[in-house]
Amino acid sequence: MNPALPSPGAAAQAFLARAHGHFIGGRWVAPLAGERFDVFDPGTGLKISTAAAGDAQDIDAAVAAARAAFTGPWAKFTAAERGKVLWKLADLVERHAQELIELEILDNGLPLPVAQYVVHHVVPDFFRYYAGWPTKIEGATIPAAPQGRRPGEVLSFTLREPLGVVGAITPWNAPLPMLMVKLAPALAAGCTLVLKPAELTPLTALRMAELCAEAGVPDGVVNVVTGLGETAGAALAAHPRVDKIAFTGSTEVGRLIVKAAVGNLKKVSLELGGKSPVIVFADAALEQVIPGAARACFFLQGQNCMAGTRLYVHEKVHDQVVAGVANIARSMQMGHGLDPASQFGPLISTEQRERVRGFVEAGRREGGELVCGGGVPSRPGYFFEPTVFARMRPDMTPVKSEIFGPVLCVQAFGDQDLERVAAEANDTIYGLSGSVWTRDIGLAMQMVRRIDSGQVSVNMHAALDPAMPFGGNKQSGWGREFGKEGLDSYLKTKGVSVAW
Ligand code: NAP
Ligand code: MG
Repeated sequence: MNPALPSPGAAAQAFLARAHGHFIGGRWVAPLAGERFDVFDPGTGLKISTAAAGDAQDIDAAVAAARAAFTGPWAKFTAAERGKVLWKLADLVERHAQELIELEILDNGLPLPVAQYVVHHVVPDFFRYYAGWPTKIEGATIPAAPQGRRPGEVLSFTLREPLGVVGAITPWNAPLPMLMVKLAPALAAGCTLVLKPAELTPLTALRMAELCAEAGVPDGVVNVVTGLGETAGAALAAHPRVDKIAFTGSTEVGRLIVKAAVGNLKKVSLELGGKSPVIVFADAALEQVIPGAARACFFLQGQNCMAGTRLYVHEKVHDQVVAGVANIARSMQMGHGLDPASQFGPLISTEQRERVRGFVEAGRREGGELVCGGGVPSRPGYFFEPTVFARMRPDMTPVKSEIFGPVLCVQAFGDQDLERVAAEANDTIYGLSGSVWTRDIGLAMQMVRRIDSGQVSVNMHAALDPAMPFGGNKQSGWGREFGKEGLDSYLKTKGVSVAW
C-alpha cells in the first residue's frame, strides 16, 4: 500500500493477502495449470494481489459443477426460498459494505462516494428487486383446441423454466454492478452460473461468491473462474454444456462471443459499447444542464458504456455550456479513490490511458478546439485529465469512436437543425443511451421518438433503476437487462397440452 493513503480495513487487507483460487462447487480450488496473474491498484499502479489464471480445464470443472447444481439441489428450492436467498445476499452486501467498497476501489479506481453509493444502494436495491420475482414467475393457460379436442377435453398451459447453466462474462469498468446485473436475475430464474470477471478487476466477484454461499446458495450454483478473456472467457463462450452467455463488454468481443456460441447455438445476451448523445436546447435549465452534462461524460472517468460523450448544444447557449462544463472539469479533485476528497479517479490501466491519449491526439490533429484537459498529470497511477473539445465535426475520430475515457466532444446546432441534430445523434453504430435537455415537453418527446437507442432520458442522463429495462439498439447489444425483461432472458417457455 501507499503510506500516503488511508489504508483499507483489516477485512479488505486479509482478503487481498489471500492466494485466490477459483470458486467452483462451493469451495476454493487452485487453477489446474497452476498459473496466476497480478492484480493492480490503478490509483497507484502498485500490485495489490494475485488471482488464478483459469483456462479451458477450469471452465470445464466449473460448468460441470453448475450443471450438477442446476438439476440437483437448486432445482429443489421453492420460489420463495430463492427469493429469500437473494434478500439475504442484499443483507450480506450491506453487512460487508466497507470491505466491498475498499476492494472495488482498489481494483477499479472509482472514487469513494461512487463506491459507497454502489455498495450501499445500487447493489442491495438490485438484489432486493429480484428477490421479489421468483414468486411471480407465471405461465398462462391458453384456450387451445389442438387436434380437434373440444373444451373440457384438453388443458393447455405454459411453464416458465430456467434456461439452465449461464456463462456470465463481465467488464472491468464497474465490476460489482456488472456482476450483480447477471447474478440476481439468473438466481431469481433458477439458473446456475459460471462467472468470468474481467482480468483487470477480479476481486469483488471472488468475494461475492463467498457471500452467495453464506446467503444459502447451494454449492455449484455460483462459480467464479478468473482469468483472461481469450482463454477462460473464450472456453466459456464456446462450451457445449453452457445454455446461455450473458456478456457485457466491447462490441468487438461481443462479435467473438456470437461466433463462439454458434457451436451449440446457446442463447446470447450482449450489453456492448456506446457513444451516447446529450442534446441541449436553448430553453433548458442551464444550472442543471452544466453539472448534468459534466457528470454524463466524466462519471467513472468516462469508462462507462452510457457515457454522454457527444454533446450537442444550441448555439444560443453553446459558449455558456462549454465554459461551465470545462470549469467543472478543471475543478474536479483528482485522486485515489480511498481519499475521501477525491472526485475523479484513474483510468483502469496504462494501456487504456494510452488509448485515450491517442484519441485526444487525433482530435487535436483533426482541428478540434481543446478547451481543457488532454494531459497526463504527473502523479502515480493511471490518471488522465478530464478533457473537453469544442467545435467538433461529425467526421472527427473522437466523435465517431467509443473512447471509454473522459473526453467530451461538443458540437453546436441552430434553430433550423432539429432534423440534423437527430440524424447526427443517430449517426453511430451504437444506440445505448442518450439525453435531451429542454423545458418544452413536446420538443422533448419528439426527440425521444427520434433517438435510436435503448434508453433516452429527459433533463437527466443515464437514468438507471432495477425495474427499468436497459440495453442497446444497433451494435450496442442484443436483449435487455434490468426489470422483468432482464428476468425473462433467463427463462424459457414450455407449451404443455394435457388431454384426457
Ligand atoms: P472487453 O474487452 O470486451 O472485455 C469484456 C469481458 O470479455 C472481459 O471479461 C474479457 O476478459 C472478456 N473477453 C475478452 N476477450 C474474450 C473472448 N475472446 N472470449 C470471451 N471473453 C472475452 O471489454 P472491457 O474492455 O472489459 O470493457 C469495456 C467495454 O465494455 C466498452 O466497450 C463498454 O462500452 C462496454 N460496456 C458495456 C456495458 C453495457 O451495459 N452495455 C456496460 C459496461 C461496459 P479480459 O478481462 O481478460 O479481457
Ligand atoms: Mg485492478
